Amino acid sequence: MNPFRADLHCHSYFSDGSMSPLELIQEAKSQGLNGLSITDHDTIQAYPEALEIGKELGIQVIPGVEFSTHSQNQNIHILGYAFDYRNEEIKQFCAKHQKRRLDRNLQILDKLRKHGMPVILEGLGEKGTMGRPHIAKALIEQGYVPDFQTAFDKYIGDGKICYVTGERFTIEETLQVIHAAKGLAVLAHPHLYKSSLKHVLKLNFDGIECIYGKLPATSHLTWINRAQAKNLLITGGSDFHGTIKPNIQLGCSSIDWNVFSKLLHHFESL
Ligand code: AMP
Ligand code: ZN
Ligand code: FE
Ligand code: FE
Repeated sequence: MNPFRADLHCHSYFSDGSMSPLELIQEAKSQGLNGLSITDHDTIQAYPEALEIGKELGIQVIPGVEFSTHSQNQNIHILGYAFDYRNEEIKQFCAKHQKRRLDRNLQILDKLRKHGMPVILEGLGEKGTMGRPHIAKALIEQGYVPDFQTAFDKYIGDGKICYVTGERFTIEETLQVIHAAKGLAVLAHPHLYKSSLKHVLKLNFDGIECIYGKLPATSHLTWINRAQAKNLLITGGSDFHGTIKPNIQLGCSSIDWNVFSKLLHHFESL
């Protein structure tokens, strides 16, 4: 029997992935996946296009997004799933993020220029959301750093000399927007954060992304146990970005069919 496989976390060229929604869904099909959610940073531009392509290619697509938030001095990512992509509140929230990112990226570019690196970022403010991975790519292409990690470690990583935080949104307001659009909110990659998430998990989450990337489910048992104790959904995803992070494969993570079908039914019943 062919087991059900899906990936609930990946990025298209509407944020910092390298593939179009069509290419992503074709890739999902060629990897033998049955389900997919494209979760771009702070934008839902892949929808409804991705839903239509999914129908044509026989892949079950669920609307998704990955919002950037800030809490207790760290960046926290929140995944929104199975929302009404026509909802005005979520669309306006994405527009606010677009402006936040444009302002902040310009400030980072200004700092880089002052440090002798006048980087040109093509397409800034045009299609989708741009972020630090685009800036890192431009720094490499324009010969200022040898690789992606050096760009973050020396210049644009959190707290580094050319980093600017810019405007920030709280976890609370982000959860409110996802729920207003009738979606479900999932704490992304909890193992990546430095401080305790006790205060964060007291908030109104619907799930935790316990299974992440190539790491097996057992390596995230702490998170699976925490999700089960709180009766939260246990989700999983690869965080695939295409050529921008070439060592990550689409579908390298896993998700239980019961959880995927809960999300799918939630969306279908909107
Ligand atoms: P942004 O949302 O524009 O602030 O960019 C955040 C993204 O940059 C994250 O999703 C990561 O992909 C990447 N990133 C942030 N910090 C680092 C780091 N220290 N090393 C490598 N990549 C990072
Ligand atoms: Zn990303
Ligand atoms: Fe993330
Ligand atoms: Fe991501």
